[in-house]
Amino acid sequence: MIPSTLEYTKATSLDEALAAVKAGARPLAGGMSLMPMMRLRLAAPGAVVDLGGVPELVGICEDGDEIAVGAMTTHRSVANDPLIRQHCHVVAQAAAGVGSMTIRNRGTIGGSLAHADPHGDLPAAILAAGGAVIVRGSGGERRIDVGDLITSYLTTSLAEDELITQVRLPKGAGQSAYAKFHRRAIDWSIVGVGVSIGANGVRAAAIGVGDRPMRLSAFESVLNGGGSLDDAIAQAGEGLSPLGDLDGSTEYKLHLVGVLAGQAHAEASSR
Ligand SMILES: Cc1cc2nc3c(=O)[nH]c(=O)nc-3n(C[C@H](O)[C@H](O)[C@H](O)COP(=O)(O)OP(=O)(O)OC[C@H]3O[C@@H](n4cnc5c(N)ncnc54)[C@H](O)[C@@H]3O)c2cc1C
Repeated sequence: MIPSTLEYTKATSLDEALAAVKAGARPLAGGMSLMPMMRLRLAAPGAVVDLGGVPELVGICEDGDEIAVGAMTTHRSVANDPLIRQHCHVVAQAAAGVGSMTIRNRGTIGGSLAHADPHGDLPAAILAAGGAVIVRGSGGERRIDVGDLITSYLTTSLAEDELITQVRLPKGAGQSAYAKFHRRAIDWSIVGVGVSIGANGVRAAAIGVGDRPMRLSAFESVLNGGGSLDDAIAQAGEGLSPLGDLDGSTEYKLHLVGVLAGQAHAEASSR
């Protein structure tokens, strides 16, 4: 199938992109999720604005105790960036495992968060690290913690005319790791878990177990309360009720959460 007719513009500045979005155009980042949805006619925007020519949206730099990552930065750049690898390893590791080389060359960190797929690896890794996004719209600029950004399946708290401009990653998440289970290297994760061990204790988040990335509260509280890793693993799935489907039953996915949380914690501890 081919997409329905639409108007295409390529913005060359952030102001131009924001004006187009305000006028009703759908932002187009790497196109790795939006284009397939358009081809299947699950999305049929009348206009799209390509963000690929907006210089303000690309790049990675240190800013105090955070790393500022432009929304249009590709998964490949995130995976290979020395700052992110050192200070927020869980995010670099998750980006390195996204889909195939082609997807990583085109797909962007901002697009992954805005798309809010409940199986997307980046949102879980950024939630585990305690990251946030900076968004701009006609109401000005605001910061949203990633835990408050994704509200449900393919749904975010972004207003219609808002763009994610930056992702902010904390520099205190170097001792962290991402573990996922999928059948073939190119497949989406059935379940993925990010764990970060920082000054405020352990943070963990999982995908594939709900309609959005979920914090593993029981796993965190056992470890932050001085309990053993075995107890934390046994309780990791508490409060979660993933739907059984062709990928596995509810029980199987809950089992995977514990196994992957244990793996990610062990790897994070050894870093
Ligand atoms: C075959 C295949 C395998 C994949 N495997 C994985 C995987 O294993 N793990 C994984 O995490 N992902 C996977 N993906 C998805 C991939 O990570 C995409 O890159 C990502 O979901 C969307 O990013 P994008 O830049 O391509 O965004 P686009 O497809 O361009 O946009 C996605 C959505 O976000 C909106 N949007 C984009 N940028 C912004 C912005 N700055 N502000 C506001 N809204 C915005 C768009 O309007 C659209 O609604 C896969 C995709 C494919 C096609």
